[in-house]
Amino acid sequence: MNTKLSAGNTIETRCTRCNGVLNHTIVAMVAEKIVRVECSTCHGVHAYHPVKVPKEPAAAKGTQKKAVPSRTSKADPEAAARAEWQALQTGMDATQAIPYDMNRVYRVKSLLSHPNFGLGIVQLVIQPNKIDVLFQNGKKRLRCG
Ligand SMILES: [Zn+2]
Repeated sequence: MNTKLSAGNTIETRCTRCNGVLNHTIVAMVAEKIVRVECSTCHGVHAYHPVKVPKEPAAAKGTQKKAVPSRTSKADPEAAARAEWQALQTGMDATQAIPYDMNRVYRVKSLLSHPNFGLGIVQLVIQPNKIDVLFQNGKKRLRCG
């Protein structure tokens, strides 16, 4: 009852002249549909334009969202290590990898294979008995020698 509208009721709708959503008096209805309304502001009578709820305001116009450039993962050390590893990997021959043995002595750029970390490249030899090895998942400090 209270939700039913009829001629003479006031509703908010868009006025084509005022170009805004304003109070209108319903002038004519067909069944339960409002067909003509009178603008309370300019008193212009016009067809009823249902107020559209703008879900995406101005979506068609100038897109504010700029395509985010592909995330440079320089801040991510793991990704950086992976990229470095990928780059080094191209020159690697897995068959030449020396199985990791902590009693062995390694040199920089030695390729070794570790039972847990996989293939790695010796990046730094820390005397007397440590090496930094770049594995696919990052750098690891290993004992050797
Ligand atoms: Zn108006």
